[in-house]
Amino acid sequence: MTIDFHTHCFPDALAPRAMASLSATSAPFGVYAITDGTASDSEAHLRRAGVDGGVVCNIATNARQQTKVNDFAIHLNGTSRILTALGSVHPASENIESELDRLQAAGIRGIKLHPDYVGIEIDDPRFTPIFDGCEARGMFVITHAGFDPISPDHIHASPAMLRRVLDRHPALTLIAAHVGGMHECSGVLEHLVGSRIYIDTSMADLMAKVPEEAPLVKEILTSHDPARILFGSDLPWTDPAGNLAYLHSLGMDERVYGENALSLLR
Ligand SMILES: [Zn+2]
Repeated sequence: MTIDFHTHCFPDALAPRAMASLSATSAPFGVYAITDGTASDSEAHLRRAGVDGGVVCNIATNARQQTKVNDFAIHLNGTSRILTALGSVHPASENIESELDRLQAAGIRGIKLHPDYVGIEIDDPRFTPIFDGCEARGMFVITHAGFDPISPDHIHASPAMLRRVLDRHPALTLIAAHVGGMHECSGVLEHLVGSRIYIDTSMADLMAKVPEEAPLVKEILTSHDPARILFGSDLPWTDPAGNLAYLHSLGMDERVYGENALSLLR
């Protein structure tokens, strides 16, 4: 059972506009979409890569959008046979608690946060009610970590910030995307490797193409607890097949490909 823990797709009606705007942001950094942004195209790419399930990391980029984003997540979970959608809440929302209750009642096990899109650093107290709410409900949080093209000059979730969140919320299950921090490998080794944080492997293959980063990505993935590493690609921005090939080249523990994901999603 192979599960890609980090994918994105959008409601069919919104996909063209969402993909056009996201692609305009990522293209200058050499990152191009390989799907049309719809759930069905995501499913097709996952199947082609030999992946059995995909976790959809929805993001509420403003408080107004939150309900619609979560409606889509709930709808997707009712209709897709291979996609499992996460919810999202926004720090400026006035109904964080009731929205987390609604997600939980719908069987959603975790939420995705993207501090760069929200424009608030991950260890800012404005995120505290969200972490407290997830901690109390046993819901996990996956967050973008490290560099993002939307905010190239300001990192909103550095390894040191993530470490502070972990320390403040001892019962929180926290997952840092992009091997703990996109293009932040030395910080990840200093602050996060060996801690109880989970990391996903999205963009690992891309980072490993940067000669000075390659040995550090490998060091992170081979020294962090394998029970806390989740295969993920960030589809549509990279191909799950490439990420899988890279992980296989490192001889990663089998649990990384699906078992760890299943135990979080159960
Ligand atoms: Zn992503």
